[in-house]
Amino acid sequence: MKELLIVKYGEVMLKGNNRPQFVKALIRNIKAALQGTGDYRIRKGQSMLYIEPNGDFDLDKAVERLREVFGVLVFHRALEVEKDLDAIQKQAAKYFAEQLNDSRSFKLETRRTDKHFPHRSQEVKNIVGRHIGESFPHLEVDVHNPDVTLYINIRKEWAYMYIDKERGPGGLPVGTGGKAVTLLSGGIDSPLAAWLIARRGVALDAVHFHSYPYTSERSKKKVISLAQQLARYTGKMTLYIFPFTEIQEAIADYCPQDQLTIIMRRMMMKAASRIATRTSSQALVTGESIGQVASQTMESLTVTNAAVDLPVFRPLIGMDKEEIIDFTRQIGTYNISIQPYTDCCTIFVPRHPQTKPRLDKIKESENQVDFNSLIDKGMEHIEEIVIEPGRDPQPGAPAASNSR
Ligand code: ATP
Ligand code: MG
Repeated sequence: MKELLIVKYGEVMLKGNNRPQFVKALIRNIKAALQGTGDYRIRKGQSMLYIEPNGDFDLDKAVERLREVFGVLVFHRALEVEKDLDAIQKQAAKYFAEQLNDSRSFKLETRRTDKHFPHRSQEVKNIVGRHIGESFPHLEVDVHNPDVTLYINIRKEWAYMYIDKERGPGGLPVGTGGKAVTLLSGGIDSPLAAWLIARRGVALDAVHFHSYPYTSERSKKKVISLAQQLARYTGKMTLYIFPFTEIQEAIADYCPQDQLTIIMRRMMMKAASRIATRTSSQALVTGESIGQVASQTMESLTVTNAAVDLPVFRPLIGMDKEEIIDFTRQIGTYNISIQPYTDCCTIFVPRHPQTKPRLDKIKESENQVDFNSLIDKGMEHIEEIVIEPGRDPQPGAPAASNSR
């Protein structure tokens, strides 16, 4: 008796002529996620992938991992059965005995795509259904709202049955939707923004603006932990730590108090777009949502956008804080985000930030400082950390070899 995993293509299925490319990416990402689970083989079917043990294989661990692979919407833990009606009946009853718990009603779904199998689906359903009814007298058939549904699938290559439907995160395989740089603070919002964009197949690198010694080493560690949690879904990514202290001090020294936040946001955007150029990324991602704070009013967002030419994606733009919190609990970033280490934004906060900044005035203030040179300098000293699921963070290439 052999257990296997069956992954349905989900949205990948809709990709028409491009489907092979999406399936290839999905397989590549599944393989990366299944590292350390043992020996298995992946077979491609028409509308699904079969992952079958090929020696020692930790199926439970593989189930956990598949829940975190974008492009996997639904998958099943299935049991391979002999293509013989008698064997199917017996297996079904045994399988039920193991999985029933306190279920009271059941339903069978049968499918036969192998037209050479001598019994039609309806016949399989009737015979197996009767056998299960006799084996478990307390169970009633309920076709509308059953406690358990047993699916029996008879295909050309093999037959299998399953009960559970497991859920993956959906979306599209990372790497099929281009590449972006995500601005990762230590807060609650930005990790979700990154997650949502990666779910659409976008490969990510992250940048964190660090203002040592105003922000501590521990706040950097917190961002690394967030990136590690994200990497369970996105796969390997590089986290750039941008030394932001001098820029922030220059803003505080030379620009008007009420413009500090908006100018700081613009400098973050400019620096992030330098990283995007270096990494051939096509967009920036932030965790802003309209009206959340002064720097996230319509006017502020417009002035922030004007700092860069790249598109800026803000997947949380219309979400409420409560929704964001619920979501981040599900993806495992919430408990990391609420650790109490200061973020560089909370240090240089004006008492009365502008909520309706004007671009011309902001640019005038920015002209007091040679910010381009400061960004150049930051880029020279940027720290790279390679984040990979299941591994400790590794230092990337030393900063000096990156400078242009
Ligand atoms: P978050 O919870 O994501 O920190 P926030 O509600 O605190 O967001 P802001 O501080 O205005 O909002 O930041 C808006 C966005 O700017 C963040 O979602 C993030 O994308 C980016 N950002 C802010 N601070 C930093 C930082 N220190 N490093 C990298 N990105 C940052
Ligand atoms: Mg923040």
